[in-house]
Amino acid sequence: MIRRVDLRGRVAAGEVSDLQAEVNALVPRAVFDVEKALDVARPICLDVRHRGLEAIREYGEKFDHVRVEDLRVSADALKTALEELDPEVRNAFEESIRRVREVSRDELTADITSEPAPGGRVTQRFVPIQRVGLYVPGGRAPLSSSVVMNVVPAQVAGVASLAVASPPQKEFGGLPHPTILAMCALLGIDEVYAMGGAQAIAGFAYGFAGCRKVNLITGPGNIYVVAAKRFLLGEVGIDAEAGPTEIAILADETADPVHVAADLISQAEHDPMAASVLVTPSETLAAQVETELPVQVAKSRHRDRITEALSGQQSAVVLVDDLDQGTAFVDAYAAEHLEIQTEDAEERAGLITNAGAIFVGGWSPVSLGDYCAGSNHVLPTAGCACHSSGLSVRSFLKAVHVVNYSRDALQQVAGHVVALAHAEDLPAHGAAVSVRFPGEQ
Ligand code: NAD
Repeated sequence: MIRRVDLRGRVAAGEVSDLQAEVNALVPRAVFDVEKALDVARPICLDVRHRGLEAIREYGEKFDHVRVEDLRVSADALKTALEELDPEVRNAFEESIRRVREVSRDELTADITSEPAPGGRVTQRFVPIQRVGLYVPGGRAPLSSSVVMNVVPAQVAGVASLAVASPPQKEFGGLPHPTILAMCALLGIDEVYAMGGAQAIAGFAYGFAGCRKVNLITGPGNIYVVAAKRFLLGEVGIDAEAGPTEIAILADETADPVHVAADLISQAEHDPMAASVLVTPSETLAAQVETELPVQVAKSRHRDRITEALSGQQSAVVLVDDLDQGTAFVDAYAAEHLEIQTEDAEERAGLITNAGAIFVGGWSPVSLGDYCAGSNHVLPTAGCACHSSGLSVRSFLKAVHVVNYSRDALQQVAGHVVALAHAEDLPAHGAAVSVRFPGEQ
């Protein structure tokens, strides 16, 4: 069901970049060809740019099999969805919101003022982005939890205008899934559109009749969503590429194989392209997990896509010489989710520099983070954890430097500015300073 890669004696923890190339060759991500997806997403985006609303309707009809005349979800539909939400689910979501909100509030940073010279102040002001489009996936699973993960940090950051998009569902008369609508209502979001995929991203990026262009688009999605975000970057800001999900687990013989197997399966459930990777120096644990996987998969509701994900090239049980080699491996792999289930989990987690989020020990499974840890579940995939972070309050803030020098402070540094301007053959730059101090060189 899952292939085995035996690295014992093969990969040494050398230069990170070399190790990364080696790790990516040994356990490549799914055939996640954004270039190919771009061939599909690019014309959709350009069509939405030219034809707007009608193009979005037509692509919805083509890919979601339902034509929606009025993409904006009515206030009544939002209210009804919340009224009809199962009280137990509402209760659970309220707890999830409380935790994400608390973590988000703690992330808020006050403005930072420095004084690199007497009378010369530079303040870093954190300013919320004005208008944001939040994408909530709805293809395979109605990811209502993604409403919480997008909306709460944006609200805490102080974003003034928030719009949500999620694919129209045929079985719900072309509305997004009712739980997604209920979550929007619960969080006070009244601008919700029934649109999905690349056409939704383009709709937000360019705007269309009834929807103003946004400044930033955040949220996870499938390869077409990722491709559209990549294509439209610049026209609009985007968060990190949050594509098909990944879990890497670094474990030793102290880990419970039943728990490890359950965690690998939990992320494989998202997508046939999802990656589930166990890295361990323990032959015993590897064998136990390999035995346990088919037992649990057989009992899973989504066994077909789980099997496809686990048997794909992107999933593997990787045997390493020792935990240090394993740590170097998972750090180079840069998983979206990294679980560390080793005896020294906490110290080992401190050694990791590349991961979307790290889950420490046997009692912090990724599913907890998906819903109720207080952390965010919109995280960088496909190795982007080497350079990008998951969604947080900071994703919705811009840092603006405010420069405020006194006459004396400028005069003190004027000679340096003029010298540097001349060195770059930009004398007008220097003149803009020296003109303020006539008679001085
Ligand atoms: P989705 O809403 O992202 O995509 C559905 C849309 O894709 C449809 O509305 C349709 O317009 C479009 N589409 C479908 N087939 C198409 C085709 N052949 N050509 C063009 N467009 C097409 O929902 P999904 O498909 O369920 O994907 C959700 C993804 O989000 C999964 O891959 C999951 O792993 C990922 N995810 C990632 C994170 C993260 O933080 N990285 C978190 C949650 C979910």
